[in-house]
Amino acid sequence: MERIGHIRDSSIPNTYEGETKPKREEIMQATEYDQKSEIRSEQKKVREYLDSFDEVLLKEVFAEYLRKSGSDEMTMNWIPFSQVRVLYSVEPEPGITNVKACEYSSKSGITIDARYNSSREDVLWNVIHEMCHAVSRGPDKTKYRDLTEQKAEYFVSFKNGFSETSVVKILNLDETDKVTSIEASPVVIKNTNINEGITELLTDRIISEYMSRTGTSSKENEETGLLQYLYVPYSKHWMTSRLYIGLISVLTGVERDTVEESIIRTYLRNGEILPEELQSELKNLNPKLSEYMADFINNEDQDDKLFKTKTFSEICNSPLLTDEQKNKLQAIQTEIEVEYWLAKERYDDLKNQS
Ligand SMILES: [Zn+2]
Repeated sequence: MERIGHIRDSSIPNTYEGETKPKREEIMQATEYDQKSEIRSEQKKVREYLDSFDEVLLKEVFAEYLRKSGSDEMTMNWIPFSQVRVLYSVEPEPGITNVKACEYSSKSGITIDARYNSSREDVLWNVIHEMCHAVSRGPDKTKYRDLTEQKAEYFVSFKNGFSETSVVKILNLDETDKVTSIEASPVVIKNTNINEGITELLTDRIISEYMSRTGTSSKENEETGLLQYLYVPYSKHWMTSRLYIGLISVLTGVERDTVEESIIRTYLRNGEILPEELQSELKNLNPKLSEYMADFINNEDQDDKLFKTKTFSEICNSPLLTDEQKNKLQAIQTEIEVEYWLAKERYDDLKNQS
C-alpha cells in the first residue's frame, strides 16, 4: 500500500499512472458574471454572507491540500467569490423533488440558489462543496475521428474528482466538412455517489480547518458540521464513503485517517477510486473481494440502500476474512450508523429551535 502511506509526506514525488494534475488553463473558464442581477433581498443576503468569508484564508486551506497532493497550487481552478452566481430560482413544479441548491459547471462556474440557502452556514457549506468540484475538475479529453467522408465521431470525456462524464457525438458533414446535424448519445456519468461522498468529507475538513483558524467557537463549529445532513442524498453518499474507507482500512491494516487522506489526494488528481494496485491487493485477500468492492462503488442504482447492501454483508461475511477483521468491519458500520442518527437528531433539534 505504497500509495496510501504517502499523503503525509509531500516530498515524495507523486507520479502514479492514470492520475493527472489538473491545471486551471486546461479547464474552460466561466463567462464573466455581473452581480447587478442580484436584485432580490434573498440574493443580497447570500452576497453579504459570501463577502463576509475570509476568501484568502479559504483559498490557502485548499492550496495546502493541493500541495500535499503534489499539485501546483498556482494552477488551482479557484472561482473567485465575486464571480459566484447568486440566483433566485422559480418555484419548482409540484412533484419535482430534485432541487439544485447549488451547482458547479465549467460553463457557469459556481451557482448558488438563494431560495435554498438562507443561512450563513448553508452558504459556506455549499460554496466550499462546489469549490471542491471546481478544484478537482480535470481537463477535457476530446477525440475527433473521421468515420467516413460524411460522418465524424466526436468524443468528450472529463473527470470531476472521481466522477467521470463522457458523451459521443456523431457529426454529419457536407462536402465542405461543415456540420449539418449532430446525433448525440446519452451522457454517461460514473462514480457520482462516491464522488459526492468524498466531496462532503473534504468540505467538512476544509470548513473545520477554516473555523479553527478563524477562532470560531466549537459550538458553532459543531453546528456547521451538521449541515451535511441538510441534503439527504449527500448524507447517504457521506456514509457510504466512510464505510468504503473503513473497508479499505480493515482489509489493508492502514489506519482510517491515512486512507481518507490518500483518497482525497487521488480525488484532487483525478485518479481512480479503486486503482489497479488496490484491486490486486484485494484479490490477494480474497478473489471475490475486488469484485464486491467494484460493485459497492459503481452500483449507482442502489444509492438509497448502499449502507445496508447485500454487497457489504457479503464482504463482512467473506470466509477468507479473519474473525478480527469481520468484527472490526461490523464495529465501523455500527459506529458510522450511530454517528449519523445522533447527528441527525441534533440537527433536527437545531432546526426546530430556529
Ligand atoms: Zn456535489
